[in-house]
Amino acid sequence: MCKYELEIVKSMNMKDKIQKDQVPFGKTFTDHMFIMDYETGKGWYDPRIVPYAPITLDPAAMIFHYGQTVFEGMKAYRGEDNRILLFRPDKNFQRLNLSSERLCIPPIDVERVMDYLTQLISLEQDWVPSKEGTSLYIRPYIISTEPGLAVAPSQTYKLMIILAPVGSYFSGGIKPVRISVEDQFTRAVKGGTGMAKTAGNYSSGFQAQAKASKEGNADVLWLDGVEKRYIEEVGSMNIFFKINGEIVTPELNGSILKGITRMSIIELLKEWGIPVVERKISIEELSQAYTEGHLEEAFGTGTAAVISPVGELNWLGRKMIINNNEIGEVSKKLYDTITGIQTGKIEDLHDWTVEIK
Ligand SMILES: *Cc1c(COP(=O)(O)O)cnc(C)c1O
Repeated sequence: MCKYELEIVKSMNMKDKIQKDQVPFGKTFTDHMFIMDYETGKGWYDPRIVPYAPITLDPAAMIFHYGQTVFEGMKAYRGEDNRILLFRPDKNFQRLNLSSERLCIPPIDVERVMDYLTQLISLEQDWVPSKEGTSLYIRPYIISTEPGLAVAPSQTYKLMIILAPVGSYFSGGIKPVRISVEDQFTRAVKGGTGMAKTAGNYSSGFQAQAKASKEGNADVLWLDGVEKRYIEEVGSMNIFFKINGEIVTPELNGSILKGITRMSIIELLKEWGIPVVERKISIEELSQAYTEGHLEEAFGTGTAAVISPVGELNWLGRKMIINNNEIGEVSKKLYDTITGIQTGKIEDLHDWTVEIK
């Protein structure tokens, strides 16, 4: 019989909650996890918080064969006043549903799942680290579990949420990164799955990232898959440039992931009266702006780093050093404002944060 009420099974052997300043990202997980099942006809059922442990799947489970899966990434922050805050979590669950739609995965009830997440974090609150820059990373994801090799959407799924305390993204201060423009591989194309947070988009980027890393770069700048001209994203972050006083970011075109950090930055810039446009921008235009001395700042944006300044861009043997390899004024202001709101240091005038009691 399936249940629709949340069940909580507490772990008998709780791990030490050692919150080192610099735990490697995504290696340590908390004591509990959330699971809920889906079956066509029944809907989502058996929501439960259980001890963190391996799960058993049929070797023919569809996730292993056709990659029908989606995920999200968000964080819980501990403020100076010890409150635990989430940043726009409703946007993450809405986006999970958009990703699911693209992968033919059934949608979740955002409000119900928000409630489950709140209870999970509340149970695990001692795991939320407090040092500056640290947080509890939240990874909700859905996998297809029906056994079968027929190429078709699964009839059964699992939604799971696991939690990982994470150290500061920038230990020892924000340092601009070196990026190479990828001219061979493509991350995503219009009509494909680029706007969905789905596994295949990330594994298909590994080869380009390995190549870039061998040449001393932190990540790659992705161009559009059709003309190999227009800038899309940087690694798994959205990208912004400051050109001649104006902030420019590639417009959402179906292959770019709609970042919540990106969305928040655009809203803040508009409020501050700093000109910001979403439009197509080619690598030639960027290079030209650099030559003319107009490329003032470049930065990636996403939940992991919030703002990651780009200090050096390499394109076909050309080396562009941006803002003297230092974080720019607008980048810094955005970083301070968003992290300030996330940790409750700056008053949240937008209703972006949700407190976990
Ligand atoms: C998650 C992600 C982002 C950033 O999204 P946020 O909501 O700001 O964390 C950008 N690009 C890609 C490809 C992503 O997967």
